[in-house]
Amino acid sequence: MSVSFNSQLFFKIALKKLKHQFLPSRCSLCLEPLLLAQELYCLNCETSLPYIDQACVRCSEPLPQSSTCPNCQKNPPYFSRCIALCDYQYPISTALKNIKQTLHAPETKKLSALLAKRLKRAYRAQTLPSIVIPIPAHPLKILRRGFNQSALIAHRLCSELSMTHLHQGICYRTQLGKPQKTQNRAQRLKLLSHTFAVRNSELIEGKSLAIVDDITTTGATANALSKCLVEAGAKSVDLWCIAKTSWHNQSSSIKI
Ligand SMILES: [Zn+2]
Ligand SMILES: [Zn+2]
Repeated sequence: MSVSFNSQLFFKIALKKLKHQFLPSRCSLCLEPLLLAQELYCLNCETSLPYIDQACVRCSEPLPQSSTCPNCQKNPPYFSRCIALCDYQYPISTALKNIKQTLHAPETKKLSALLAKRLKRAYRAQTLPSIVIPIPAHPLKILRRGFNQSALIAHRLCSELSMTHLHQGICYRTQLGKPQKTQNRAQRLKLLSHTFAVRNSELIEGKSLAIVDDITTTGATANALSKCLVEAGAKSVDLWCIAKTSWHNQSSSIKI
């Protein structure tokens, strides 16, 4: 069995090297040929992504220095901290479109790997949440799209982060949300207050959880789910996402 696995791996690597020699992949942004170890982006483009460095410690809103933003001081969210990889701007906006529309988008793998790296740094002095929950999509949305992109990202994160376990069946959506762009903050919060429900709450009682989304806009969706999980007995809820739409960029047509 192991010989067969080793030979499969050998041929896979040999094929990759051969393909790279005759048909090198190109950076999806600048079209420079990629080195064998690079995927999707060249080193220059990867380091130039709009990463969020200094941010609000609660909601990850970009700030001149790490502190708590006025919004979180006034209305602290139910999640303990949000870790967002990038600000929602080009090329992340295009990458997220692909992640939402394509089941095997290379951006899902690449950006999840970059987020996992960021999470390892963020939790180097603390224990990672043991249970990872993708923000559930409504069944009708899954039927239309064929998949839940947050679940794909969560799955990839769990394969990179040791001691984390993916749980998809703990919570579910009870309502299909409306596009956020047509609603103000109060309307969104009202709509979202009964959007999620928890089953098998004994699985999360006293546990530290992380919820995963591709993008967070106002944080209202994640806040509603966090409230639901905390009320069901979770010790704490963290939010992990690929991108955050900062205050200057709230008009984007992003759907919940
Ligand atoms: Zn490039
Ligand atoms: Zn904040």
